[in-house]
Amino acid sequence: MSMHCRFCQTPLAHLFVSLGSSPLSNAFLRAENLRKMEPYYPLDVYVCENCLLVQLDEYEKPADIFNDEYAYFSSYSESWLSHCRQYVDMAVKRFGLNERSSVVEIASNDGYLLQYFKHYNVPVLGIEPAANTAAVALANGIPTDIAFFDEIYAKKMHQEGRQADLIIGNNVLAHNPNLNDFVRGLKTALKADGLITMEFPHLARLMEETQFDTIYHEHFSYFSFLAVERIFGSHGLKIFDVEQLPTHGGSLRIYADHHEYPGRSSSVNVENLRTRELESGYADLRHYHSFHPKVRSVKMDLLQCLIDLKREGKKVVGYGAPAKGNTLLNYCGIRTDFLDYTVDRSPHKQNCYLPGSHIPVRHPDRIREDRPDYVLILPWNLKEEIVAQMACIREWGGRFIIPIPQVRIL
Ligand SMILES: [Zn+2]
Repeated sequence: MSMHCRFCQTPLAHLFVSLGSSPLSNAFLRAENLRKMEPYYPLDVYVCENCLLVQLDEYEKPADIFNDEYAYFSSYSESWLSHCRQYVDMAVKRFGLNERSSVVEIASNDGYLLQYFKHYNVPVLGIEPAANTAAVALANGIPTDIAFFDEIYAKKMHQEGRQADLIIGNNVLAHNPNLNDFVRGLKTALKADGLITMEFPHLARLMEETQFDTIYHEHFSYFSFLAVERIFGSHGLKIFDVEQLPTHGGSLRIYADHHEYPGRSSSVNVENLRTRELESGYADLRHYHSFHPKVRSVKMDLLQCLIDLKREGKKVVGYGAPAKGNTLLNYCGIRTDFLDYTVDRSPHKQNCYLPGSHIPVRHPDRIREDRPDYVLILPWNLKEEIVAQMACIREWGGRFIIPIPQVRIL
């Protein structure tokens, strides 16, 4: 099988990192399915020698990934909701959105973000492929189209005169295997003076902080700023501002508009980030070969830590059941021999089992009852929030384990 770059079609010959094979990270199992065969797919990430886009090959069609079993509902993290509310306040003010504006969010999930535009009476439309999450949004009065955004959908918007003043995409650019089709769609769906904001994990943070667990099958591309600027540029869109955000372990928020629209001048942030990435080696293929050895080192340190604790007879459980946790656990080979169970606040995940590792997911109250010695925090990007919520473990001398960027005990 020969694979080609999803942006420039160059054959992919350079491995960035191999995390072995694992099931889809959101394929949570019910008890009755534990003895059935589970599909595993390779988790090999390549870097294109021509355009330096870091990418996973496509193993499953999005229709299969984002189906009704899709266990992810956005509305369960408090820090994420607060991030979204601040974004809406900023966007309304900075871009002068009002009752006559049209805001479209791609992959709008349960309406977690669009709900905040209600306060400003700004008309919104969510586009969400998962029918069960879209139903939650509709029940909350957020207009939502159950559809997959692509160039064909964008052309329909264009023909019907429904182009947007603002197109929002949070954690969707990296999730779309048809990258060129998606970005062409953005161009088509945008008004002449409209703008796009997209948030996605920043490759520089992933590499510098060894965040290999943010690699999973639903996540097809891993962008440096240099790469995303080249891709948007090739489709007639220019990035006029960029922000570095703490979300998901370090994300970029890019602001783009039509290449031919002269109304906004380029922020100094764009030039600064471009320079920083060039100086750090993101335009040089050799830089990308430094990642794999760092990943293997984190795996060995985490296993060493867990082996030592288990030999001492300690009770260790997990906190959280995020997609990234499944990459970490499956790559490291951590099952119920090391973690008795994990807990999650989402009722959709409780009483399920993690894909691959088959670690059971319980209600967070279970930790208070069981008094474990150690709690491994899987969504380490929310560690401050979780350490505060679970401060009760200090009562019996419990401690937290943070796996990334290096193994630490708190
Ligand atoms: Zn390429």
